[in-house]
This record gives sequence, structure tokens and C-alpha cells, in this order.
Amino acid sequence: MEYPITQDAGLEARDDRLVTDSARTDRPTPDVDVVVVGAGIAGLYLAYRLSRAGHRLRVFEAGDDLGGTWYWNRYPGARVDVPSIDYMYSFDPNWQRDWQWSEKYATQPEILRYLNHIADKHDLRRHITFSTRVRQAGWDDGASLWRVRTDGGDDVSARFVVMATGCLSMPKQAEVDGLESFTGEVYFTSRWPHDPVDFTGKRVAVIGTGSSGVQSIPVIAEEAREVVVFQRTPTFSIPARNGQVSPERLALFAANEADYRSAARMSPGGIPMERSITPTFSVSEAERQQRYERAWGIGELFEAINVYADVLSNPAANHEFAEFFRNKIRAIVDDPQTASDLCPTDYPVATKRPCLDTNYYATYNLPHVRLVNVRKHPIRQITETGIDTAHEAFTFDAIVFATGFDAVTGAITAVDITGRDDAALKDKWADGPQTYLGLTTAGFPNLFLITGPGSPSVLSNMAVSIEQHVDWVLDCLGHLRAHGFAAIEPTAMAEAGWTQHVNDCADITLFPAANSWYMGANVPGKPRVFLPYPAGVDFYRATCDEVVARDYLGFKLSGPEGSMCNDGLVRRLQPDVEMILIQMAAMNLPTLDSMPVDEARAFYAQMSTTRPPGPDVGEIVDGVLPGATGDLAYRLYRPPTPGPHPIVVFFHGGGWVVGDAVSDDPLCRDLCVRSDAIVISADYRHAPEHRFPAAVDDAMAAVRWVADNAEALGGMPGRLAVCGWSAGGNLAAVVSRLTRDAGGPHIVGQVLLTPPTDGDLTRASYVENADGYGLTTALAQWCYDHYIDPADRRDPRFAPLCAGDLSGLPPAIVVTAEFDPLRDEGKAYAAALDAAGVPVEHVRARGHTHQSLTMVDVALSGAPVRARIANALRGFFLPTRTPETAA
Ligand code: FAD
Ligand code: NAP
Repeated sequence: MEYPITQDAGLEARDDRLVTDSARTDRPTPDVDVVVVGAGIAGLYLAYRLSRAGHRLRVFEAGDDLGGTWYWNRYPGARVDVPSIDYMYSFDPNWQRDWQWSEKYATQPEILRYLNHIADKHDLRRHITFSTRVRQAGWDDGASLWRVRTDGGDDVSARFVVMATGCLSMPKQAEVDGLESFTGEVYFTSRWPHDPVDFTGKRVAVIGTGSSGVQSIPVIAEEAREVVVFQRTPTFSIPARNGQVSPERLALFAANEADYRSAARMSPGGIPMERSITPTFSVSEAERQQRYERAWGIGELFEAINVYADVLSNPAANHEFAEFFRNKIRAIVDDPQTASDLCPTDYPVATKRPCLDTNYYATYNLPHVRLVNVRKHPIRQITETGIDTAHEAFTFDAIVFATGFDAVTGAITAVDITGRDDAALKDKWADGPQTYLGLTTAGFPNLFLITGPGSPSVLSNMAVSIEQHVDWVLDCLGHLRAHGFAAIEPTAMAEAGWTQHVNDCADITLFPAANSWYMGANVPGKPRVFLPYPAGVDFYRATCDEVVARDYLGFKLSGPEGSMCNDGLVRRLQPDVEMILIQMAAMNLPTLDSMPVDEARAFYAQMSTTRPPGPDVGEIVDGVLPGATGDLAYRLYRPPTPGPHPIVVFFHGGGWVVGDAVSDDPLCRDLCVRSDAIVISADYRHAPEHRFPAAVDDAMAAVRWVADNAEALGGMPGRLAVCGWSAGGNLAAVVSRLTRDAGGPHIVGQVLLTPPTDGDLTRASYVENADGYGLTTALAQWCYDHYIDPADRRDPRFAPLCAGDLSGLPPAIVVTAEFDPLRDEGKAYAAALDAAGVPVEHVRARGHTHQSLTMVDVALSGAPVRARIANALRGFFLPTRTPETAA
């Protein structure tokens, strides 16, 4: 729900000149306007933007120099995994003149030199206090400022705190017993010494095979006498094919740098690239293999993940791509057991961060390199001289931990941050982080998180995401200043909505299937929540911009002269449904109600040909059954399991005017497989040629015929349910009542999917969802007008809601969709059934439209609702519901 802006007088824009906050208030003047924590890519860009905007700032950095990730991770082989040309600031576009990358994927020293070059060029060091860790930050509500304390004894007050602490900056603990007893050298890739480490002639253990392990193992193996890699989970890695910066990319870039950077900002991952819209199985196997080979050959991570649109959502598509990788591993690695151990099998490809490597798999062919599968041979302990597994004692001169990070939230919650009423952020996030846009969190005013949880962060080219966040924060500070506000904070509603939206996005992907650091699963005790925002940099940026354009939707802005809050949710549709609506709108298709009926039918049929087919069933049989006045077509879907099966008679949607068994084919397949029931999709005569009650008469005839012929059809006599979508849902409801009144056939349950139940166009849902969500109120009106005279619209054979007595009807599941003009009719019918004592499950499909629940394999977020329908059907078919036992 959106609330009106409550704006106190005198808050309109009035002064864009720089005026420090204290000049406008009688509150204490903070020491600085902004404290920034961290001096990596984000902290440096903040220093640049804040200082130029005239804010007084201090940057604290725990390390004794700048660079963040690239200061700490100096391990052998450390490089970027997105092309260097993309992994750089865009605010300083003169790099062609004063900075040239020597390689497609620059090494850590080169990136660190680049960051130092930027800091020197723009004189950023003077803002940074090095070797100083921020320990505490507390919001002082009375003074409306933050009090920040460091381990260096600083006690600084600031109006704003920006956590630029990094997503991958808090190393994980070793988590192996006995480390303190080891007398050899110990290294963590994430805290590598500044002096060179020489492994020549040494026996080296490496624990961990994520990106850091994959990059360092081949380089360590070049020096060491012996390398033993302890692998808990194998990784998917593709060859980086490093070399010169690609001439094509350079040419593209040189042609128009501004366009290039802008394409990156509006791309899915922060690198100029079109989002793939081709589903894997829509092309031939030969074409797919070619495409995979191309991805393997290019050596670019984001290109590889983008091979097909459904790699991260369709298990079968993902499996095929994963198998391609596994075949590559088997082809490279000589020893079959080692190859087998290196093949990931227990998580979908790309649900853990895939790696880019140079000679990783081939390194295992070297005689002095060995892989220990820790799942088969668990590490028992580290000893004085090496590592003991359950089966073997190893001796080492050095142990390298490449065991990763407490990612995304670790560095934030490591600081003792308290907000309003001294509430601790760590406690608030105990069950998982809650943020609005990944940028802010309720109860913690004036606290900004750069690439925080709930933003694209680690799923994107971080350089682009960091700039977008910093730019947003700077614009926000400018807005507050210009409008006389001193504080900004998200509302609880906006935050809950965003957290839900991030989960919705993750739930339609395969990401939650992996025990990854994206899910917090790598740190013992960390809540299992998907941390980054997976819908893409482009959608995310558009959302952040929209929030601003809608008067900082979901934020409360306050100051000495009043406050303002335009509360609400910025994303309410399910993410895939929203994407479909955007695509449909872009196609600018004509509406059915703008066409003559014949054209509308042809158009509707044509639309049915361009969608995924739905799941395979055991058998499909087309036939005819005797309708009320003549033969009608039906299509029978038989499950792949041995019969006999219960039967569902299904009535298709289409407003009584368009549609047939084919138009609802994927839905019927899905229903058949999920409920393990025969589905018989029965046609009925259409309006306007055959107006009300022709469709009802045919629906009744179909139910009778199926009941009479259940056994011959392979069904279980007496286990008969009815189901329908839209107008078909209306028919299912009507038939349920008519069969009750006629004393049979016995119907064990009714499934009503977004049904019209009285056609009352004055209901709120017809007004709220009149346009923009597929079915429009105008189209609903068109259907009603074709089907039935206004004088008949209270006839219970059209309006089951108007039937006087609903008691004794079959148990029902009624599904309504939030963004459906028909929503309130279904809701009213579910309530009426309940009031009449009919067992009814009302499923409110949040974020869905009238059609989206039927879009099998297109709107994936509809699958859980269809699973509930199937579950309800299975319940209807339990023996306790058959006529014999019911009696
Ligand atoms: P960081 O670079 O992590 O900087 C945060 C800084 O904050 C650190 O210096 C830390 O010391 C400091 N800090 C933290 N807490 C405190 C505190 N309480 N007080 C004071 N200081 C504090 N991303 C990509 O997009 N592409 C890549 O190729 C890529 N490669 C990577 C390679 C490695 C080895 C790693 C670990 C990460 C990589 N990343 C990559 C992610 C990388 O972290 C980001 O790209 C980017 O460097 C993050 O910058 P940042 O400024 O946000 O954070
Ligand atoms: P990581 O991906 O989390 O990998 C850590 C590895 O250590 C995993 O194989 C993990 O196994 C293993 N491990 C952790 N604890 C263990 C234990 N107690 N016993 C045995 N094995 C253990 O960490 P990372 O390699 O440092 O990479 C983190 C992220 O940083 C990357 O995903 C990437 O985003 C970024 N990065 C990028 C690059 C690059 O190429 N530019 C390089 C390095 C890092 P499990 O999987 O079973 O937990």
C-alpha cells in the first residue's frame, strides 16, 4: 500500500548551495559530515565524491595502505575474473592517456598500482587514516548523529556513516584443529605477506579450492617440491585464456567510451552484454554444444553463465551445462580418480561462484601434485609437522589456507553498530540481513552500506556496482541537504518488501540449492539466506532510480523543520511476472477486446504456440465426447505412473470466447504430473455464437460422460474432481453446485484458479488492476458481454456467488492473484464457501496476475502455487473422500 506524502510546511527545495547541516539546526555540530569505513575501491570513490561535494569526511582503513581486496590478497596468481577494462572506475575516463592495462585479466600488483594511481591523481590519501579499525558506531538519536570509535582511540561524531567495508574482506577462521601446533609456515590467501614467499623445494598443503585456491595452486606448483590440495567441494572453472586486452573489446571501447560504460551500467552483470533470452532446449543439441564450446573458448565468466536464459533456473538445462564442464575436466585430467574427484556433482553449475583459471586442472597431471578429497578422507587435525586425515599423515613445510570469507555481512557485523534505542545491528540480522535496496537498514538512520546484502554486489562486476551505490548515496546526501533534512531511514514496510523481493528473486533460481557463501553456508552458524540480489545490475539500478523518482519511496526523511515519508513497496510483482509484463508491453501487442472475435481467437491460438510445452506426461489422447448438443473435443493427459488414476475434469480459460485444450496444454500437463491424476481437458461451446448457458450445459455433459466412463478411461470410478482456470474456474464452480443439486455425479473436490464468480465490475480489484497486468477490466467486460446478457448475471449458473445455499459443496481450493481484476470475486467466493461450512483453502498468490500462474516454465514463481493445487487434489482423492466412505 502506498501512503500519501506527509510533508510539513516549508520543506520544498529552496537552497542547493553548500550549507553545512549545523547551520540549519540547533543540534550539535558533528566533527565531520561523513565517516567512511574502508579504503578499497568503494572507500576511494567515496573520498573522491564526498570531498568534491564539499562534505567534511574521514576515512578509516584497518590496513596500513589503500586498496582493500587488492591490498590484502597478494597470493601468487591473484587476478581479476572480469576483464580489467571493465573492472575500473568510470568516473576518471582519462585512463587511455594515463593508464593502460597490460593484460586482459590484470594481476593483483597491477590493480593495486592502478588504485594508488587514482588515489594520487585525485589526492585522496589525505582523507584516510590507515592502520585504524572502526570498532563501534552508535546512533545518538538526541543529537541526530553517529559516534564512531576506532581501535586507535579516535572518537569521532558524524552525521552519516558509510560502510565501505567490502563483501569479501572478513576472512573465515581456519576451522581445523591443531593449527597452533604446526611448526612450519602458515599462510592465508586473504592475508598474504607483503614480502615475497618462496616455496622452492618445499612441501606445501593448500586447503580450499574456490577462486583463491584455483588461482594460486598452479603458481605454487611451479615452485614447490610437492603440493597436496585438500578439496572439500570441487569447483567449476573455465580457462581464462589470459593475454593482451582483447582488440575487439578495445575497439568497442575506443569507439565511444561513454556508450561502453553506459552499456555496462545497464547490463545484467556490469559488463556490456545482452541478457540471453534463449531457453536451452529451444535449440538443437548440436547448436547447444557449439555454444558451450564457444563459452569455454572465450574465457569470460559472465559470458559463460549467460549461454542460455535458463541455466540458473532450469535444473535440466543446468545439468546439461554442468555435464559439459565435467567432460572437459575428464578430458584434461589424466588420472580418472582425480578427474572424478574434481568433478562437481552436488550443486548446480554457477550456484557457487565459478572460477577462471590458468592451467588449474592440468596442474593435477604434474607428478608432484596430488588431490585429497576431504569428503572421503576428512582432515582430522593439523599436527606439528603436517596434516593428518582419517587415513594418512602428511608432512609439510607450509600450509596455505584458501578457505574464503565470512562474505557480504561479515565485515559489517564485525563492527558494533547500534541504532535507535541502542538496538544492535548484529541482533537485528541474527536470522539474516534485512535491508532496503541493500543500501540502508531500518532503525539505523544515516547509515549506508556499499554493496550491502540485498544488492547485486558479488554477482556483478563490483566496480560498476560500487560506483552506482556511491553515486546514489551522494545524490541522496545532496537531496537531504537541499531540502533541509538531517536524517534518512527506510521504513519497516519498505525493508520487509525488499527483503521479500530479494528472496522471491532467489527462489526462482537454483542458487538456494547450493551450500555456497552466497547463501552464508560456508560459515558455521551463519543463517542460510541468499545474500546478493540476483535480478541484475540493470533492474537494480532502475529500481534505485525509481525509488528516488517516487520521492524516496519507502524512506522517512526528517529534519528540524519536519519530516516526509512516502511509504510503500517498490517491487510488488513477482520478479519473473514483472519481467514478462515488461516484455509484453515492449511488444505492443493488440488487445483481444480491440479485435473481432475470429481474429481474437486466431491471435490467442497463435500466442499459444510460442511458449515452453510443459512437462512430459505418460500419454496424451485426443478424443470426442458427447456435449449437450453435439460432439466436443477433449484431450486426456495420463500420468507416467501405473494406473488406474483419479480423474480431474479441466475447463480451459478464455472468457467463454477464446481458447481450447491446446491453449491450456502446459497447465494441464503440469497438473497431471504434479497431482498424479488423469486430466481431461474438455472443450465447451463458445460465445458469442453460443451464449450462456451453453458452456454450462456442455461442462455438465462432460462431467457426466467422464464419470460414466471413468474405468474405460483408465481412471478410478468415484475419484473425480473438477478444475478450471478463469472462465473455466467459473464453470468448475458452477458444475460443482449443479452436480450437488442433481445428486451426482459425485465430485470430490473443486479447483478454482482465478475464477470470476459474479462479474461485479465495481469490485475494488477491477479498479486497482484495471490495466497493466494482462487481463484488463475492459477485456473482462468484453468477455462478459459476449457471454451473457446483463439480465442473467445473477443466475447462479453464471454467478455461483449468488447461489443461495453453498453448503454441502465439494471441498475447494480457490486461488486468487494479487494483480487480477477478478481477485475480489475469487476472494468473496472462498469466504462464502467457508461461511457455508465447505472446507476451502484460499491461496492468495502474492505478486501474480490473472494469467501468470498458468505460465508453466515461464513464470517460475507460479510453480509453488500449482504445487499447492496438486497437493489439494491429492487430498481430495484420498479414499476418505470417495462417495462410499463419505457415506
Ligand atoms: P574491499 O576492497 O574489501 O575494501 C574494504 C576495506 O575495508 C578493506 O581494506 C578493509 O580492511 C576495510 N575494513 C573493513 N572493516 C573495517 C573496519 N571495521 N575498520 C576499518 N577498515 C575496515 N570483484 C569483481 O567484480 N571482479 C573481480 O575480478 C574480483 N576479484 C576478486 C579477487 C579476490 C581475491 C577477492 C577477495 C575479491 C574479488 N572481487 C572481485 C570482489 C572485490 O572484493 C571487489 O571487487 C572490490 O574490490 C571490493 O571493494 P570494496 O572497496 O567494496 O571492498
Ligand atoms: P571460497 O570461494 O569460499 O572458497 C573457499 C574454499 O575453501 C572452498 O573450496 C571451501 O570448501 C574450502 N573450505 C572452507 N573451509 C574449509 C574447511 N574448514 N575445510 C576444508 N575446506 C574448506 O573463497 P575464495 O576462494 O577466497 O573466493 C571467495 C570469493 O572471492 C570468490 O568466490 C570470488 O568472488 C572472489 N575471488 C575472486 C577471484 C578472482 O578470480 N578474481 C579470486 C579469489 C577470490 P566448501 O566449498 O566446501 O566450503
